[in-house]
Amino acid sequence: MMVPPFVGGSKKLFIGGKWVEPVSGKAFDAINPADGQVLARIAQGEAADIDKAAATARTAFEGPWSRWTPVERQRLLLRVLALVEAHADELALIETLDMGAPLARSKGLANFAAQTILFYSTQTAAASVTTHQNSLPGHMMTLSHKAPLGVVGGIIPWNGPLMSVWWVVGPTLATGCTAVIKPAEDACLSTLRVAELLQEAGVPDGVINVVTGYGADAGAALAAHPGVDRVAFTGSVETARRIIGASAGNIKRLQLELGGKSPDIVFADADLNLAVPGAAMGVYGNSGQVCLAGTRLFVQRGIHEEFVTRLQQFTATLKVGSGLEPGVNLGPLISSRQLDRVLGYVDIGTREGATLASGGKRLGGTLANGYFVEPTVFAGVHNQMKIAQEEIFGPVISVIPFDDTDDALRLANDTPFGLGGGVWTRDLSTAHKVSQGIKSGTVWINCYGALDPNVGFGGYKMSGYGWKGSAEHVDSFLYRKAVYMNVA
Ligand code: ADP
Repeated sequence: MMVPPFVGGSKKLFIGGKWVEPVSGKAFDAINPADGQVLARIAQGEAADIDKAAATARTAFEGPWSRWTPVERQRLLLRVLALVEAHADELALIETLDMGAPLARSKGLANFAAQTILFYSTQTAAASVTTHQNSLPGHMMTLSHKAPLGVVGGIIPWNGPLMSVWWVVGPTLATGCTAVIKPAEDACLSTLRVAELLQEAGVPDGVINVVTGYGADAGAALAAHPGVDRVAFTGSVETARRIIGASAGNIKRLQLELGGKSPDIVFADADLNLAVPGAAMGVYGNSGQVCLAGTRLFVQRGIHEEFVTRLQQFTATLKVGSGLEPGVNLGPLISSRQLDRVLGYVDIGTREGATLASGGKRLGGTLANGYFVEPTVFAGVHNQMKIAQEEIFGPVISVIPFDDTDDALRLANDTPFGLGGGVWTRDLSTAHKVSQGIKSGTVWINCYGALDPNVGFGGYKMSGYGWKGSAEHVDSFLYRKAVYMNVA
């Protein structure tokens, strides 16, 4: 396997179209989670670098970029699209090396990124002027303008940055905003390569800036910065609380997509040939490091035993290994910290009295230097157990029996989260009732995890607010201004 020439060496910060050293002069390692090897050195940006990037983004926002027409921004997005498509294999390989996902998944992510860019390229006329009727005396014309908000801070997670970065870059370029992006310290490389491609596509200097660094300093500085108008964040509830606090200084607009503990409900009448692999991969995909994962798997009591057996059989067919190896279904977890967290929850589940039906162990042998864990099934779980209430972010399924539709809905909604949910049934009215009843931002019926940028997704309850994808997302990068014009 050829390592792309981009991987290796020392990476800098991308500010104002230039690659610059961080003020601190410090750096940290990008680690390949499949073997623990260092891939590159990453610049450790801090508050002073965020200051520079935010000032640069402000200047760019007010400069010639503000006069680009919708058609010009559309052409730009199409040039970005062409470059991302031309470099899809390279980007996927960088992503797999840096965060571990199977290469087939990373390629899927690159394709989805392309589809997302194409969607945002259709949204470049969203900043608009509309006229309204009014009941005012005299000759008054009333309009509303939608104008770009300004400088956006994008705080990116590590579980699929090759996709996540476009939820910020896409609407930023479509609306004429500018951005400072802070990738997650555990997976920066694909975002840095994307920055190079954006420049090659002709994105003006300062429109998209990338400051790598740790959450506690670069991230916190971006979230609190008075020169940033809006923050788009994907990550944990704990960090979101800090970001909400930091937003108070200049009353920043926020978009928060947080964790989940999504219910996936299998009724006795479901087609188990579909439901078993579908529900299992709804958790095991990306080694469980997906915010939408359907980790609370509710199974109707009549088929509980059969379902668990089939789940064990399916789980046994999965191949865990380096994402570069052909046919691998699950790559490593992102870091040793994440591995400890997942194994810690396996311990908790066992101590809580759940039955460990599959997996649960770290993998050794040739995989001993990476952060690999077996796909894991807990059966006989109770919804109040810690493993059923807290987000594990690993390939761990909790199977919970239920009796009827009302019982399933009561259990499904007994969670502080509301991101995703699924239902497997052949009965139309059950499907309808359950999809209406689940309190979450997305529900899948007889499938799990499908997404389309034109539809978008978002959270409810403690899974956050603000929709990603769709025209609504683009709208949230604009502010509205009413204009009263006396034309007498
Ligand atoms: P995880 O614990 O899974 O890494 P986080 O929510 O901590 O999830 O991380 C998501 C993103 O938020 C990362 O880019 C991280 O660097 C960033 N981050 C972490 N802490 C803060 C903070 N206090 N303020 C802003 N961003 C942060």
